[in-house]
Amino acid sequence: MTRDDAIALDQADPLAALRSQFSLPDGLIYLDGNSLGVLPRATAARVQQVVTQEWGEGLIRSWNSAGWIDMPRRLGNKIARLVGVGADELVVADSTSVNLFKVLSAALSMVGADAPGRTRIISERSNFPTDLYIAQALAARQGFELVLAEADELPGLLDARAAVLMLTHVNYRTGRMHDMAALSKAAHEAGALVIWDLAHSAGAVPVDLTRDGADFAVGCGYKYLNGGPGAPAFVWAHPGHAGRFWQPLAGWMGHAAPFEFTPGYRPAEGIARYLCGTPPVLSMAALECGVDTVLAAEPLGGMAALRAKSLALTRMFAAQVATTCPQLRLVSPQDDAQRGSQVCFAHDDIGYPVMQALIARGVIGDFRAPDVLRFGFTPLYVRFVDAWDAAEHLRQVLANGEWQRPEFNQKQAVT
Ligand SMILES: *Cc1c(COP(=O)(O)O)cnc(C)c1O
Repeated sequence: MTRDDAIALDQADPLAALRSQFSLPDGLIYLDGNSLGVLPRATAARVQQVVTQEWGEGLIRSWNSAGWIDMPRRLGNKIARLVGVGADELVVADSTSVNLFKVLSAALSMVGADAPGRTRIISERSNFPTDLYIAQALAARQGFELVLAEADELPGLLDARAAVLMLTHVNYRTGRMHDMAALSKAAHEAGALVIWDLAHSAGAVPVDLTRDGADFAVGCGYKYLNGGPGAPAFVWAHPGHAGRFWQPLAGWMGHAAPFEFTPGYRPAEGIARYLCGTPPVLSMAALECGVDTVLAAEPLGGMAALRAKSLALTRMFAAQVATTCPQLRLVSPQDDAQRGSQVCFAHDDIGYPVMQALIARGVIGDFRAPDVLRFGFTPLYVRFVDAWDAAEHLRQVLANGEWQRPEFNQKQAVT
């Protein structure tokens, strides 16, 4: 494949125009939208409007007049369209970690109420650490045991001791994607509930929580949804479960009537009870701009079209690097059906400095300990020529030993 071939793919790309929604610095190849999505062009003006008009002039009236109070639900309804759930089933709130705490706690209550012998929370050893930490904390408090396994061993652990299967749909480090339908079904056949973390799925791959039999889900606003650093996250509970138990963070925004100011907690019907405190309006305004960049693909084929482009990008990048950098080991699945929207390579010891050298050249990916070079492909704004150029930069950095420079070997706090 030549660079001209890549340019021809961009010229034929039906989604190419979506890139103009973003404010990307000139010359930068950004392959880290799986960690922090790019700034949408609309965001700065929208946040400024919220600050100067809605806050500055509207003041407290804006909770009603500007619809601030409805933002968790309104944004939730937009994200619902991307993950295959109905209106008023999903809300935006808090962080992914906090939402996971809520749904895992609710799921454990549901299971515990039905079956005292079910004592295990089952997850993947390579799940994102915050998910495992939250599970460890809850397991310790509520008398459950966290059992960790490799992906292929998970079905074998689904037995009468299984309470909750808690998984991240697309692995943050390898990009490997679970079969949501098959694992949800296996969990249910064993009598367990299943929680899906969609941090690397929402806005990246088609998700159909309803069709695929999920019980609960959480997801992240600042990755493929382009909501900005620390953007609020989202939470979904199956409508059949949402009203069954309190989630433990019973704040006033989850109350059936917060402005009656009664001393007793009475949970709202449905998913609204998964809200806790006052929504962060400025962050929500930015998140809405980000979600809108993904919804803008709907007339062009939506998530299915984005997925087709993402697979074409990751396939091409993986093939190019395999040819030009044989010393790197592909750690993402080659099978399209098992690969999310990222491509990762391992190389003993030199992963970190190689990535630093790439970043200095304006090719931004990231490094995940112990040895993974991670490249995320957000099809809304990454072009085929970017993938081609990134592969060529990687080849050069490895070939000329640039990564050996001392400044690239100095570890920073955030990798
Ligand atoms: C990014 C990510 C998170 C982030 O959680 P925060 O609470 O936003 O810090 C959680 N889980 C997974 C799987 C992630 O990839």
